[in-house]
Amino acid sequence: VVGDVGPALGLPASPGPRHPSDDLLERRYRVVADVQEHYYTAPPQIERGWREYLMDVDGRVYLDMVNNVASVGHAHPRVVEAATRQMHLLNTNSRFHYGGITEYGEKIAATLPDELDTVFFVNSGSEAVDLALRLAMAATGRRDIVAMREAYHGWTFASDAISTSIADNPFALETRPDWVHTVVAANSYRGAHRDADAARYAPEAVADIDRIVAGGALPAGFVCETYFGNAGGVALPAGYLQEVYAAVRRHGGLAIADEVQVGFGRLGRWFWGFQEQGVVPDIVAVAKSIGAGHPLGAVITRREIADRYRTQGYFFSSTGGSPVSAAIGSAVLDVIQQEGLQDNARDVGAHLAARLEDLGTRHPIIGRVHGSGLYLGVEFVRDRETREPATAETAAICDRLLELGVIMQPTGDHQNVLKIKPPLCVTKDSVDFFVDALARTLE
Ligand code: PLP
Repeated sequence: VVGDVGPALGLPASPGPRHPSDDLLERRYRVVADVQEHYYTAPPQIERGWREYLMDVDGRVYLDMVNNVASVGHAHPRVVEAATRQMHLLNTNSRFHYGGITEYGEKIAATLPDELDTVFFVNSGSEAVDLALRLAMAATGRRDIVAMREAYHGWTFASDAISTSIADNPFALETRPDWVHTVVAANSYRGAHRDADAARYAPEAVADIDRIVAGGALPAGFVCETYFGNAGGVALPAGYLQEVYAAVRRHGGLAIADEVQVGFGRLGRWFWGFQEQGVVPDIVAVAKSIGAGHPLGAVITRREIADRYRTQGYFFSSTGGSPVSAAIGSAVLDVIQQEGLQDNARDVGAHLAARLEDLGTRHPIIGRVHGSGLYLGVEFVRDRETREPATAETAAICDRLLELGVIMQPTGDHQNVLKIKPPLCVTKDSVDFFVDALARTLE
């Protein structure tokens, strides 16, 4: 079924050439400050979602191939039920509420190596990264942080200060505080992936850290994305984290992993960085999929690091880890485990990658398919040799896919990479629907 799939699902057909969403869009642009420059010529206004499907205000149904935050699927009945039940009981934070936070903390800690046993709850990925930096500063008594170039860690002041992926971001570049130091990027956020000579990057990053220390800055910690999600799924070179974490620890700093994009199952494991690379960080920041769309983030660390912070720093979040957040987070973890969603991410991800590779043999505009599990990227190029980015074509492909009923998003420095990160419950049939729509679009 292609196009307006509503009727096939027993839902209303789309109402004609002018949609109610056109008016809604105009109103939204007037008052909401987030969507002025949209990659869609006619962005849909989504009203509801279930599993990996979305429906807009006009009743058109789409396949959601991009919402990694909706980890267990939109409106999962167990998540809805857990949230509703807790909403009726209690939803305010205080230092003495019960609200399920204990069970939830225990469940999160159980997904991690034993030494990472203490959890702070916040509201978002940016907050989690901010707190991770503060924990490292408090535990080491130092101020300096080493980050990787071309990475993204969030939009709050501290997470933004260590984010160098946004080329024209004055808050992150011109005004980057003197406590931020950077090392060479391993692969790239921006779509120009360089993994052919990846073995170089760990030694180069280690040399950068040695230079930073020789220049008089003692690092409180080294932080990096353990997988470049926003490049459309690019892994760190094998062994990278072992070498770079060892270097920062040699200089007395802590190892911080930003698992906000991929933690909790997207790549077919609970965590990507240290499970794949065989390391255990001192501090891990997570968010996004743990709350299945609800504002929820967490920082997991060792007890002694948490205690050092508690004796020096201030931490109280009015809403972080609220009873409803805990109920949702807890239900999400149960669903991931009980429905085998990590296995699904591996199986369906491998099937999807194989189908996309196959499509690439017939369509030279596909420069590369990369990534792992249910976090893949398809790079569109004008020329496979020069890898000249096919930016305008990518926007047109997104528009056409939308007409065919698939929601996608371009990414990378040149906006020529489709990032593919559907809910973890996505079926093989759904990803086949997407690949068939992409094939028709390219034809
Ligand atoms: N860290 C990484 C790796 C991210 O990709 C993001 C968001 O895209 C963040 C942190 C910030 O998370 P949030 O948008 O929840 O503040």
